[in-house]
Amino acid sequence: MVLYESTRGGNEGISSAEAIKRGISPNGGLYVPQQIKELTLKDISDLVNMTYAQRAVFILKQYLEDYTEDELIECVNNAYNTAKFSSSDIAPVRPINESLCLLELWHGPTCAFKDMALQILPHFLVKAMEKTGEKSEIVILVATSGDTGKAALEGFADVKGTRIIVFYPEDGVSEVQKYQMITQTGKNVKVVGVKGNFDDTQSGVKRIFTDKKLIQEMDERNLKFSSANSINWGRLVPQIIYYFSAYADLVKDNRIKAGDKVNFVVPTGNFGNILAGYYAKCMGLPVNKLICASNDNNILTDFIRTGSYDKRRKFIKTVSPSMDILISSNLERLLYELTNRDHKKVTDWMNRLNESGHYEIGKNLLDRLHRIFWAGWSNQDETLKTIECVYKDNNYILDTHTAVAVDVYDKYVITTGDLTPSVILSTASPFKFNSSVCKALFGDAEIEGKSEFELLEFLSEEGNIPIPAGLKNLDKKSILHSDVCEKYDMKTVVTQNLF
Ligand SMILES: *Cc1c(COP(=O)(O)O)cnc(C)c1O
Repeated sequence: MVLYESTRGGNEGISSAEAIKRGISPNGGLYVPQQIKELTLKDISDLVNMTYAQRAVFILKQYLEDYTEDELIECVNNAYNTAKFSSSDIAPVRPINESLCLLELWHGPTCAFKDMALQILPHFLVKAMEKTGEKSEIVILVATSGDTGKAALEGFADVKGTRIIVFYPEDGVSEVQKYQMITQTGKNVKVVGVKGNFDDTQSGVKRIFTDKKLIQEMDERNLKFSSANSINWGRLVPQIIYYFSAYADLVKDNRIKAGDKVNFVVPTGNFGNILAGYYAKCMGLPVNKLICASNDNNILTDFIRTGSYDKRRKFIKTVSPSMDILISSNLERLLYELTNRDHKKVTDWMNRLNESGHYEIGKNLLDRLHRIFWAGWSNQDETLKTIECVYKDNNYILDTHTAVAVDVYDKYVITTGDLTPSVILSTASPFKFNSSVCKALFGDAEIEGKSEFELLEFLSEEGNIPIPAGLKNLDKKSILHSDVCEKYDMKTVVTQNLF
């Protein structure tokens, strides 16, 4: 059976249910599987004629071996169905032109790719509690740059045995994102704005998670923390599915033959999405390059090019806010794998990052990194220009995050000349970031004076596409969560809510 260990050492292997329940390891490390299953080309070919749900069960059972197949089927059917997703393909591949294919990951209830994982994580977690004989109530603590918060609320609202508290940077999310969260219903939900940026919010949540005194007080009241951020393995593993699914669809549509290599281009923030692509590659998916696309917060571009991770720089608020991140948590998992699981090295780097804001990985490791990854970034003007061009040329409206990836892909092709078939992961509906999208398409003058909610209508009419159900009439819903706190008061908010 595949067991899980912490990237910072110190633990015996634990089951996947235990790893999912805990979210993060007590020593601050992230849980990773002790072995990575390799699939054969036949396994991959067998996926071609399966539905998304069937593909999902096949991939999940490689990792969640302490769940029975029936349990996995139940989790998958509860998550990936047409009551929740607006496309029966769940994650359709959409060819835009000869060389450009988009993998649309935003047909879930909150219109961003986070639904792909957060629709299923609560089902994994409820089963994990049964399996591990857990008697405590689970408290999900979330730091969000906008999309995770809503997707987690939507997944966990009124789930028995759980409570959820979401922190978001007060001025770091779009109006639509904010309204999605502050209008959330459910008896077990709490949403709070933080006066700070996403990194402040994420660091605050990490500190609460590892606060020994608080954990003990929680214990006495039969409460336990877990995480719905992509540090939780239960959020990462469902993301592996759609890499295989996209590949199977390309084979099915005769765009490639089984065994041909493809590139994946991923708009990246916390490094969760692209890391799932790395696991897919390790499992035998024929991947040529994983292309890591960043916005002006281009710390990952610098890191992948030079091997030096240096967060001593200004945090920039951009039109792709879900990628405005300077500390990409999931990079820790990649470093662990690339060093052949050297927890001492990884711990040392993470301590350096924490204490002095930077670390370097050295030439050998950098060479290994370059065999798999390529990195680039798109500034805000380029991103908006890309939205405009793709609409003009292909009559397709990109959201700002996906546009970053499209621009970086163009740069990749120009720089390397590599024409391997490529899939760009499309991470949000354009409606979710409508004010930037409308600005790119129609110019400042057209959008001046219109609220984000009026712009939803405007974009729908001009672009001739329907407003997704989850974003309709948002401004007419009641505001249920208006609390805002200082970044050093986050713990107090938690204790007041729980005790
Ligand atoms: C979260 C998010 C990203 C970044 O994904 P990571 O897994 O954090 O790298 C990109 N685009 C959108 C729309 C997102 O919500």
